Amino acid sequence: MRVEEGQVTVEAPEQADAGKGENVFFNPVQELNRDLTVAALRAYREREPRAESYLDATAATGVRGVRAAADGWQATLCDVDPEAVDLCERNLERNGLAAEVRHEDANVTMHRDAFDVVDVDPFGTPIPFADAAFRGTRDLVCVTATDTAPLCGAHFESGVRSYSAVPRNTEYHAEMGVRILLGAMARTAARYDLAARPLLTHATKHYVRTYLELDRGAGVANDAIDELGHVYHCQHCLWRDSDRGLLADAPEACPNCGRHLQTAGPLWLTRTCEPDFAEAVEPHLSEDMGTAAEAANLLGTLAAELPTPTHYDQHRLCKRWGRGASSMDDFLEKLRAAGFEASRTHYGGTTFKTDADVAAIRDATAE
Ligand SMILES: [Zn+2]
Repeated sequence: MRVEEGQVTVEAPEQADAGKGENVFFNPVQELNRDLTVAALRAYREREPRAESYLDATAATGVRGVRAAADGWQATLCDVDPEAVDLCERNLERNGLAAEVRHEDANVTMHRDAFDVVDVDPFGTPIPFADAAFRGTRDLVCVTATDTAPLCGAHFESGVRSYSAVPRNTEYHAEMGVRILLGAMARTAARYDLAARPLLTHATKHYVRTYLELDRGAGVANDAIDELGHVYHCQHCLWRDSDRGLLADAPEACPNCGRHLQTAGPLWLTRTCEPDFAEAVEPHLSEDMGTAAEAANLLGTLAAELPTPTHYDQHRLCKRWGRGASSMDDFLEKLRAAGFEASRTHYGGTTFKTDADVAAIRDATAE
């Protein structure tokens, strides 16, 4: 099949059963992810004008690398599958673009050569590529993870194995996945005296995507590790808290209802986006992008999202309290009127963040 995306047209095999066939993998539901990548790379080039080279480490059809090349990046497309390599070459040629195509294991390429920007977009977990990606990147590591069930705790043992952390299956599962992934990336980067800080991160039920800016030195790597910690969660009343440090120090019981608390972590506790960067990306969305309107909307929500480590779902809280839900605007206004910060989140239409705890939310939003 032919796929038109942004400024390019690429050939991609028909996908019989996502990721399970013989075919080179192409994920049509990730057009938003790829449109945002092009815009984020444009914004990043303004932030770091030295950045020129881009590696599409797990190229498959090469759609990311082709789009980067069309946007003026000095692109390298790498794949271990010979059919993918042929497809990458055809897709570059079809668009009249020049880029290097390598038939090689991405880890070999990234251990041998360095690139300004490296994009790791595999099917499943990015962990097998993470060490080499941090070794082989000067400025920006872009990572997609599609193994959302392990990341969010729905496939618990798999998440523990992949990410060397304890995820928990909570009602903020997508954010749990984001923070488990970011925590694992920060710890991997720190092994090489690198701080990996997220400029932009977004999640859906299908994947997590993040853009990690690297900073070099043992001191900054230590500072990044200090951003890790644990979340303590009560499945009964939905109270939660967090603290920093690689050793968990959970309260004995839920201070709100007295029941047992679950601990998740270590995970990334602070900002998952730089609001300034999210705002800087938005003007770089262009009309040729099929998801431009949706992407602009997402960036606006991300820029305004509070940095608290977990979010709530109004409908879930109201159901638990035996109360009818109200409009999100009214609900958030009540929290603000009571002196709390409150924002919507990109995790869902009825989700929000606040610095109020669950008891204070209940009081502040009572009829
Ligand atoms: Zn509780």
